[in-house]
Amino acid sequence: MTMTRDVDTLDELRDAVPAPVALPGERVYDRATPWNVAVPVRPAAVVFATSAADVATVMRFAAARGLRVAVQATGHGATAVGDDTVLILTKGLSGCVIDVVERTARVGAGATWQQVIDAAASQGLAPPCGSAPGVGVVGYLTGGGIGPLVRTVGLSSDHVRAVELVTGGGEVLRVTPDEHPELFWGVRGGKSLLGVVTSIEFDLLLIDEFYGGAMYFDGVDAAAVLHAWRSWSAALPETVNTSIAIQQLPPLPGVPAPLAGRMTVAVRYVAVGQAANRGARVDAEAAERLLAPIRAAATPILDSVGVHPHAAIGMVHADPVDPMPVGEDHALLADLPAEAVDAILAAAGPGSGSPQTIVELRLIGGALARDPRHRSAFCHRNAAYSLSTIGVLAPPVAEAVSPHAAALVSALGSWCTGGQMPNFAQSRAPERLSRSYDQDTLHRLLALAARHDPAGVLA
Ligand SMILES: Cc1cc2nc3c(=O)[nH]c(=O)nc-3n(C[C@H](O)[C@H](O)[C@H](O)COP(=O)(O)OP(=O)(O)OC[C@H]3O[C@@H](n4cnc5c(N)ncnc54)[C@H](O)[C@@H]3O)c2cc1C
Repeated sequence: MTMTRDVDTLDELRDAVPAPVALPGERVYDRATPWNVAVPVRPAAVVFATSAADVATVMRFAAARGLRVAVQATGHGATAVGDDTVLILTKGLSGCVIDVVERTARVGAGATWQQVIDAAASQGLAPPCGSAPGVGVVGYLTGGGIGPLVRTVGLSSDHVRAVELVTGGGEVLRVTPDEHPELFWGVRGGKSLLGVVTSIEFDLLLIDEFYGGAMYFDGVDAAAVLHAWRSWSAALPETVNTSIAIQQLPPLPGVPAPLAGRMTVAVRYVAVGQAANRGARVDAEAAERLLAPIRAAATPILDSVGVHPHAAIGMVHADPVDPMPVGEDHALLADLPAEAVDAILAAAGPGSGSPQTIVELRLIGGALARDPRHRSAFCHRNAAYSLSTIGVLAPPVAEAVSPHAAALVSALGSWCTGGQMPNFAQSRAPERLSRSYDQDTLHRLLALAARHDPAGVLA
């Protein structure tokens, strides 16, 4: 029996769940269109969850009817959803409460980093956010999360204190280091394998400003700047975070004229004070001196480096904001010798004909590499660099983006660790799972999933 297009079944879903439900063809159904509009998200029904109880009801309903359940907040990491699946949209769970005394935030599953950044900034605090403020807090934290301060403050999910989790079996659980510790281990890194998070609590950082921004260079200087960045970044202290991106941004509103319609190279830089999380202020002069080798590599065509409030952290990467059709790829590197930089330049530098909009290398390590207070399912703490490619899947390059990204990763083969972070270039393919986790972690995650989702509801 096909449950997927069974209208009676879906009408029963409306009766069972108090939250609004949209079926294909209904106007609000399109609110499930993800940020990455290239990903086909066409569920049997969309449930606009308003509470953990709604989510639990959907889990039990799906288990009884042979349907699957997926979850989405913003769709920045969207994966395909078909008509055998009910999609829980969490946008309505957008509460954000800051506890100034405890220095924590408790946010709903639909909150974006921008909401938390704004709420925390008014108290001189900062969340352990990612580079793009429009990304969802829960989607990001369940994948670990490497933000623009990762070398200084470590993996973002190491700052999580508690989670409200609805398991595939329909139980609503408070998950902390002491309550359901195995789920606390697994939900930090395991994405939605173990359930749908309806709210999350995490520590805020005592950081209200940083020295940094981005320096943009002409594409003709790519070789000089990439090689200078490679040798310079290898010796930076943990208070300094940096990434570099070869960009080919389209001439769209919001893209600064000097960066539009040409190849440029962005060096991103974020420095905070030593013991930043205890309120130490950044030494701007020292941070500026550290940047001298990059300034000497070539002449910037645009420069936003200076002292900024933490609330402006999104300007460092200046990630794309509006929904778009993107194809992503991702690899972790153990090392970045000069030959690896040459391989990146050959594939994505001037004259390469690269179809990618962004080819980005983030220096990681630092605090990320240290064991956290509470172990989690996040693997790959020892990688030295994270490589990401983003291509716009539109003519004339649409067909070239994925093969080109695969060729670039393959050219870096001997320096790649073979691992991938759960947050980047997401997919539900088994091959992807085995790259996201080491064997023991994957085995443990799947055993937990089988115990807490006996009907295998979670897509
Ligand atoms: C422009 C851009 C910049 C980014 N920058 C960074 C960065 O700096 N660092 C970094 O680590 N990552 C980064 N990412 C990756 C991002 O963290 C992931 O794509 C993340 O999954 C997005 O979460 P979302 O809720 O916004 O997306 P969604 O597409 O809504 O969710 C993606 C996945 O997250 C999981 N998820 C979402 N909500 C829940 C829930 N309530 N319960 C359980 N699981 C859930 C599900 O597996 C879901 O499929 C970036 C992505 C983009 C597009």
